[in-house]
Amino acid sequence: MTEQLSEERRQQVLDLCRDLIRIRSYSGEEEKVVERLKEFYTACGFDEVRTDEYGNLTAIINGNRPGPTILFDAHMDTVPVQDPESWKHDPFGAQIEDGMLYGRGTTDMKCALACMATAAGFFARDTGRDFAGRVAVAGIVHEECFEGIASRAVSRDLKPDLVVIGEASELKLKIGQRGRAEILLETYGVPAHSSNPEKGVNAAYAMCRAVERIHAMAPSVHEFLGKGILELTDIKSLPYPGKSVVPEYCSATYDRRLLVGETKESVLAPIRRILEELHEEDPSFKGNVSYASGEETCYTGEKIRAERYFPAWLLERDHPAVQRVMEGFRSHGYEPEITKYSFCTNGSHYCGEAGIPCLGMGPSRENIAHTIDEYVPVEELYAAAQIYEWMMEAFLCKTDKLS
Ligand SMILES: [Zn+2]
Repeated sequence: MTEQLSEERRQQVLDLCRDLIRIRSYSGEEEKVVERLKEFYTACGFDEVRTDEYGNLTAIINGNRPGPTILFDAHMDTVPVQDPESWKHDPFGAQIEDGMLYGRGTTDMKCALACMATAAGFFARDTGRDFAGRVAVAGIVHEECFEGIASRAVSRDLKPDLVVIGEASELKLKIGQRGRAEILLETYGVPAHSSNPEKGVNAAYAMCRAVERIHAMAPSVHEFLGKGILELTDIKSLPYPGKSVVPEYCSATYDRRLLVGETKESVLAPIRRILEELHEEDPSFKGNVSYASGEETCYTGEKIRAERYFPAWLLERDHPAVQRVMEGFRSHGYEPEITKYSFCTNGSHYCGEAGIPCLGMGPSRENIAHTIDEYVPVEELYAAAQIYEWMMEAFLCKTDKLS
């Protein structure tokens, strides 16, 4: 990269990153991060700062003429620290050691949020707001269990023309990801004393038959995104423990990775067919398949509910947004690799559900997310803030249309 942030700006980026890491913000407890960011946005002269019913925080810088809305999206929640004893660094201490900043949420992904927020401030100052459109930075709640669900409220409000997801990308440009669904498979039996099993129908045996057939299915494949993996993640029978009872109910959960072009119906159809075949072969077999759903409470008190189905998304390499941002990068001597996320992000909503072009760009590596002694290389924070500003420039300081 040819340009570097000034010492003063580097300090500003690092200070905000460390402040956010010091504030614990597990899913549903993001309120104090919101308060700190509000302070920052106010001090930095953002034009609009608002929260919605779920508690997402959106801050906006307006240009001096109409134009597109570019939304920078990062979630404020983190996964919990399961075992603080096994951390060598205080998970909420924001310690720096050998050029690495340590703490829960460094990689995933409060530092990216801090980089986006500071970059928008730099952009406002560097352009004197002489640009078309607006930059919005959204801190999203409850991403760790519901990718993209809280984001729905932000896209409804802003109707962005383009979204930049800040999940860790090693500062490469991400243009897609597989989606994710949690599939619930259920079998039903008839309870009986296990000394007379023929009097009942064992739901666990029924589950075994279904699981075996599903395991033999060939996965769907996409040449860029990979396999539509279907993996069994748990099985439970009822009553549990069984204590001399033939189980009358059994459930299994599958993690299904989704590809572009797949739908809620097309993903379940082959499993439904297997259940029908098993029933035709043995009328006592009773099974059902559906998507798991969940409900969580936001710090605002609002409930967030959703079926666990988060679609895939992918932009073509010659999509105008990809072309435009790459041209912008090249003009600064930066040529990142174009690649894909291997996990699921809020892009599932923006691009997968709402059809809004989406790009991923963030500091750190995907596989440092959710780990013990999670960290981010400090130099990448400065680079990310600079790159985000280049993205704002590429989309808002040129006059030609995005798509
Ligand atoms: Zn994340």
